[in-house]
Amino acid sequence: MTRHYNFCAGPAALPVAVLERAREELLDYQGRGLSVMEMSHRSDEFIAIAERAEADFRHLLGVPDNYRVLFLQGGASLQFAMLPMNLLGQGGRGNFIQTGIWGKKALNEAKHLGFDCHVVASSESNGHTAVPAQDELRVSADAAYLHYTSNETIGGLEFDYTPQIQRADGAHVPLVCDMSSNILSGPIDVSEFGVIYAGAQKNIGPAGLTLVVVRDDLLGKAQANIPSLFDYQMLADAGSMVNTPPTYAWYLAGLVFQWLKDDIGGLAAMDAINQRKADKLYAAIDASELYSNPIANANRSRMNVPFVLADSALDKAFLQQADAAGLLNLKGHRSVGGMRASLYNAVPESAVDALIAFMADFEKTRG
Ligand code: PMP
Repeated sequence: MTRHYNFCAGPAALPVAVLERAREELLDYQGRGLSVMEMSHRSDEFIAIAERAEADFRHLLGVPDNYRVLFLQGGASLQFAMLPMNLLGQGGRGNFIQTGIWGKKALNEAKHLGFDCHVVASSESNGHTAVPAQDELRVSADAAYLHYTSNETIGGLEFDYTPQIQRADGAHVPLVCDMSSNILSGPIDVSEFGVIYAGAQKNIGPAGLTLVVVRDDLLGKAQANIPSLFDYQMLADAGSMVNTPPTYAWYLAGLVFQWLKDDIGGLAAMDAINQRKADKLYAAIDASELYSNPIANANRSRMNVPFVLADSALDKAFLQQADAAGLLNLKGHRSVGGMRASLYNAVPESAVDALIAFMADFEKTRG
């Protein structure tokens, strides 16, 4: 068996230790004589798996007690719709910071549902190469929340600060963050957020699961006639089991959380590894004449590193040779072209070293 290095933006690499444990437990989960996939979601065994996963996630991120953690389906994209449905039922407007393609989709989905939205600031004028500064953020007087994308997966643009907007009365505008592509990449202060959400298929586990962390006071503000499955309050009350949840993905996410805690040593340790991986790849890109990345240093994503070749005629050879060398999924998003190396938590430092060596070699021989 050969495991290649996988730089896919998502579904992304999973830790080998997690896959091995899943394989060990696949047919017979801890002597129960059945697979986790075959268990009732209401069984004692699965409830224990679900509760352990949530407890480990809370421990890793330091989620305070006044937040609920929901294990949902529909991807981060369904949250683009569920957020305004849940947060604007009592009026107010969604405010949005625009820093790339995913933030735009979040805005457009809210508009599509008929919600009046306000764009607070956008990095469109600089080609999404630097995020707007905190002092450029002007929310509307009726802002019910401020939405942003902490890491734009396609553009490779990451916030280097957490936006905070204080109202005249001192209260903060609830901050809603799409953390799909950088959640768990390092420590954060959850108490700065109203809602955090993320599709699982990058740093959490396999596709099919979406995590939503929502502060208690934001529950119960939904529009009256939305489907039960979209209602945060109902989902929270039912322990994310209004219907059958994605049980196997939930279990695998739990294994990833255990790996982060026990094998990596928590998010501070993960943060240091991620910083090292990204720093060396950007340094290699900056030192080369063939590769370039346009993002402002402070906003260069640690998770997704897009780069272009000075001569795009070499793209095909680059990708073919990388693939043959066991470096998979380096093609950039179809909307932007070029290359993109995603360096999520489960991508080991040795993968980055191998990529850097390959890139140097390719540059020397120019294909
Ligand atoms: N937001 C961000 C930042 C993403 O990277 C993605 C997926 N690449 C999405 C939202 C959409 O996620 P999903 O496919 O889970 O709906």
